[in-house]
Amino acid sequence: MRALMQDWSLTLDKIFDHAARWHGDREVVTRSVEGPITRSDYATLHRRAKQVSHGLLEMGIGPGDRVATMGWNSDRHLEVWYGAVGIGAVLHTLNPRLFPEQIVYIANHAQDTVLFADPACAALLAELLPQCPTIKRVIFLSEAAPEASFPAEAYEAWLSGRPADAAWGGFDENSAAGLCYTSGTTGNPKGVLYGHRSNYLHAMMTLQPDALNLSARDAVLLIVPMYHANAWGVMYSAPLVGAKLVLPGQKLDAAALHELIETEGVTYSAAVPTIWQMLLAHLKETKGKLTTLQRVTVGGSACPESIIRTLHDDFGVDVIQGWGMTETSPLATVSTPKRPGLSFEDSVPRKLKQGRIVGNLDLKLVDDAGARLPHDGRTFGRLMIKGPTVASGYYGAPHGSALDDEGFFDTGDVATIDADGDMQITDRAKDVIKSGGEWISSIDVENIAVGHPKAALCAVLGVVHPKWDERPILLVQLKPGQAAGKQEFLDYLDGRIARWWMPDDVVFVDEIPLGPTGKIDKKLLRTRLTGYELPFDPNLKR
Ligand code: ADP
Repeated sequence: MRALMQDWSLTLDKIFDHAARWHGDREVVTRSVEGPITRSDYATLHRRAKQVSHGLLEMGIGPGDRVATMGWNSDRHLEVWYGAVGIGAVLHTLNPRLFPEQIVYIANHAQDTVLFADPACAALLAELLPQCPTIKRVIFLSEAAPEASFPAEAYEAWLSGRPADAAWGGFDENSAAGLCYTSGTTGNPKGVLYGHRSNYLHAMMTLQPDALNLSARDAVLLIVPMYHANAWGVMYSAPLVGAKLVLPGQKLDAAALHELIETEGVTYSAAVPTIWQMLLAHLKETKGKLTTLQRVTVGGSACPESIIRTLHDDFGVDVIQGWGMTETSPLATVSTPKRPGLSFEDSVPRKLKQGRIVGNLDLKLVDDAGARLPHDGRTFGRLMIKGPTVASGYYGAPHGSALDDEGFFDTGDVATIDADGDMQITDRAKDVIKSGGEWISSIDVENIAVGHPKAALCAVLGVVHPKWDERPILLVQLKPGQAAGKQEFLDYLDGRIARWWMPDDVVFVDEIPLGPTGKIDKKLLRTRLTGYELPFDPNLKR
């Protein structure tokens, strides 16, 4: 028997219609490419997004065509986002921080047709565009187009005078809406193709109180770039509840972010740990305060304890850790407590884990043969995930489905899950250190080591060892002006980690390189370590 409820296909244009109709005057604030902070609102953005749709339709763009953007978080970027998605085109966010050859590969693989870019990308584009023949037009997301060696227009002139009456929606909710490539830390970048329905469901799932818990009363500073991992879905979740959006543009230094948080009354924000580390160092130096910020989601890589404690103790800000990946839209687990009445101290060990699965998704741990492993908080296994917001395969990939027999996607992460369902990432499968047949979690050791007051960044790598296969070594980038010896770091770790996890060496480096999405670039670190020899003491007991 068919239900007697209305047909309401979950297409993303409905989210923006809702925001404009019911939260039309809710502000969207941007640090503009021109410099000043500009103020818009959902009604204005909706109108301008419709004008974008008009312009795209006039160019002959239709359902399924890829519309590319290359820019930081701004109102104009958001207008293009909805302008494309509303008419069924596929919004493809290009990451300007990738290596040029990777961007060329991605744009050609996606067959992008038109590109909306921040003016700061002009020089990069001059290098790339001759190699990207499918991109026929470039529109700069600015008042005036910068000097460029290729034909380009300015967004405001292109938009001006256009009617705002383009029709949105009316297509299948399973149509593609967005394309986002993983940064390709291994092999070529891979395209994750989001759908209207999957992004709509993801927005609703992430709004749950145990997930991001956003509401109309929140002012959200979106630090996570719109070009990375579907911007953690905030482009959909914030308008769906009418939260104020604060978009920082390209100025992501601590002083600029702090200014926005304080002047715009930001209550919630999301970013990778390195951003919070930078912000906390700045606040310490300037004796700055966080007077409105209530909670932050930290994800993208594991959140060090020092961030959780400092934000709580010094600023009264609650840290919620989130885990996910481009392939999972991305949010999938969140470290909100399961049990009522936990003290802060009792909640810290849980916040250090990546957390519980968001409703509507399923997780399992398996061994190398694909057999399920117990959820005892100790057994390490490959983390597998299933649900309507999880990729089933990659765009244009030759091998169809990427799922196992039970329909689970292999995350490439190694994790434990405890009896409460709290998941903890111990490593990426390729970074796991295998020592004497046991696994050492590089992430755990890194996060404890970085709590040393002199450490700016820490990384743990496995190096070949004649007796134990692999042993961990600790690489440390010290805070500016600090000096330290190896033993200081080993003493700091002593008692905080298992004895056999103790790094065999501590190497001080000028820089721990960060990749294009703010994560430690272990691949580059390994290259830089070429020629390094592990001190080997055959009598050392482990
Ligand atoms: P990439 O880093 O490959 O460009 P993603 O941004 O999709 O792509 O990264 C997803 C990966 O980031 C996850 O598979 C996991 O290894 C790591 N990750 C994400 N969030 C966390 C977290 N809270 N703790 C530890 N690792 C995380």
